[in-house]
Amino acid sequence: MTSKTELAVDKFLEQTDSEVASFFEACVHCGMCAEACQFHLSTGDPKYTPIYKLRPMERAYKREKAPFSRLKKMLGLAPKPVTEKELIEWAPLVYDGCNMCKRCTLVCPMGIDIAGTIRKMRAGYAAAGLAPEEL
Ligand code: SF4
Ligand code: SF4
Repeated sequence: MTSKTELAVDKFLEQTDSEVASFFEACVHCGMCAEACQFHLSTGDPKYTPIYKLRPMERAYKREKAPFSRLKKMLGLAPKPVTEKELIEWAPLVYDGCNMCKRCTLVCPMGIDIAGTIRKMRAGYAAAGLAPEEL
């Protein structure tokens, strides 16, 4: 039987087209998106940094789909697999920690559509049955 994690990761990879892949490769860790996000500004908690909210999806891409990922896996250099525990831990960041205001997307100097990619990450949660029950 396919696990929830596999369902989520499959959907993350399906949603990671060439544009999203370029977003994951382009971040220069400048922190400007953090300064634009009200969740980060009001709490001061680094976990609300917009690009950080995408980490499980980014890791799935870097482990399974990025250039040389197969070779990196063989050499033990690939990022570790995403776990269900991690997906559950990230759910409040992906849902309660983002209202899709797009301020982060507007300020990112690399043109990364963080809000649009969070929406795509939510598709993975929905496919795995890990979206909040109210939704
Ligand atoms: S503003 Fe863009 S480049 Fe800077 S840390 Fe955020 S996502 Fe990365
Ligand atoms: S779209 Fe989400 S992550 Fe980006 S600034 Fe708005 S609330 Fe923060």
